[in-house]
Amino acid sequence: MSRINGDTIAAIATAGGTGGIAIVRVSGGEAEAILKKMFIPAVKREYFESHRLMYGRAVDAGGETLDEVMAVLMRAPSTYTREDVAEIHCHGGSASANAVLGRALALGARMANPGEFTRRAFMNGRIDLARAEAVMQLIGANSQAAARASLRQLEGGVSGFVRRVSDRLKDVMALLEASTDFPEEVEEEATAGEVAMQLRKIADEIRLCSDSRSARMLREGASIVLAGRPNVGKSSLMNALLNQERAIVTSIPGTTRDVLTERISIGGVMAELSDTAGRRDTQDPIERIGVDRARRAAEGADVVLIVLDAAGEMDPSDAELVKHADERAIICLNKSDLPPVLTSRQLSDMTDAKIMELSAQTGMGLQALLDELGRRIAVGEENSGQLTAQRHIQLANSATASLERAVEAIGAGMPLDTAAIDIREALSALSEITGENASEAVIDRVFERFCVGK
Ligand code: GDP
Repeated sequence: MSRINGDTIAAIATAGGTGGIAIVRVSGGEAEAILKKMFIPAVKREYFESHRLMYGRAVDAGGETLDEVMAVLMRAPSTYTREDVAEIHCHGGSASANAVLGRALALGARMANPGEFTRRAFMNGRIDLARAEAVMQLIGANSQAAARASLRQLEGGVSGFVRRVSDRLKDVMALLEASTDFPEEVEEEATAGEVAMQLRKIADEIRLCSDSRSARMLREGASIVLAGRPNVGKSSLMNALLNQERAIVTSIPGTTRDVLTERISIGGVMAELSDTAGRRDTQDPIERIGVDRARRAAEGADVVLIVLDAAGEMDPSDAELVKHADERAIICLNKSDLPPVLTSRQLSDMTDAKIMELSAQTGMGLQALLDELGRRIAVGEENSGQLTAQRHIQLANSATASLERAVEAIGAGMPLDTAAIDIREALSALSEITGENASEAVIDRVFERFCVGK
């Protein structure tokens, strides 16, 4: 039996454009009736058994063939939406799928809104909100690491994390309530100490899973920026790293004016590698823009490769870059195939940043650099509860803030029920992650970013 009867939705579930097959998906109380009116199995004996793929024809109102198709009827509740679902696999390209979809709509289905199939799965209790979001992230994943993280969430990683942490908070609440309900039997001070310690531990655990840097790297990929004055070999290094000749390599200083960005996969993590214009003070207005861009790109980067020329003296702009190298920097002493003028020993007196000798030309030291990059942008696989969606991270942050307030209140000797209010707030924020008490507006916002047909 369908949970939501009457309103049957339909959409093309596959991506637009030319392809082998296109799938029209129908879900709702009328799905079976609609399929039976528009699909004629080739073998009459096949009487629309649930979850069985059939071969046949999709037909229009006059019985004319729209396309030769495969169709499957999946009766509730073992379906994606928990409603009756019909899928018609047509020939690829938009013409056939549109004709089949048009027929389903003419037979009473309504065009589905973005994410409406998944929304029904959520409304019918098949998946929670965090899993629905994981579906969307998986669709949009641009790297293996991002896909793996989404899959873990789809398998309930986030929901499991929320449950684990919430259960522990509820235990703490029980402890608190015992002490406020039976003050004569419970030693208040000891309870307060125990509660504060537990809360601190739980807050630490939430913080570990809501590290926004790891989340962003999983979602969007890491950002690696090459910085250095003109002619030190930035574009050569970028090319060498990408192992392809896309950037224009030239020996005229200052020709890399725009930030040039390429994607590279390092250890399964997608990274954007950007070559910026020479970072030097200049009066040239065009290059000035490039220099500003370079500064901005370096600000948001996860790793900054400061490229220096080992075969030449350092100039003031090199020194400036080295001076400002922070923990994100790797100093790349390029052109180390040439007789050395600038050595890593000289540099190590100036900075704590990691220094690597390499040659974009001969390839020397490149693997070591890639290995180092891989280590820096690796996202803890062991941390299976890592939240990646911004919405989840914000809620987790609000939960930790509430817990910190509770710990502070206890530390300041406030009555324990003050802490209880904060803990309740933390619990409420956590349950919004899985959608237990998410408002209609929140749910709308989650699903409107989906594509139609999912
Ligand atoms: P950019 O302005 O920093 O992007 O520098 P380029 O990549 O355009 O390189 C400037 C010049 O240095 C070119 O002539 C390159 O061939 C040369 N070059 C770059 N890397 C190396 C290297 O590792 N060894 C040597 N010998 N020459 C290099």
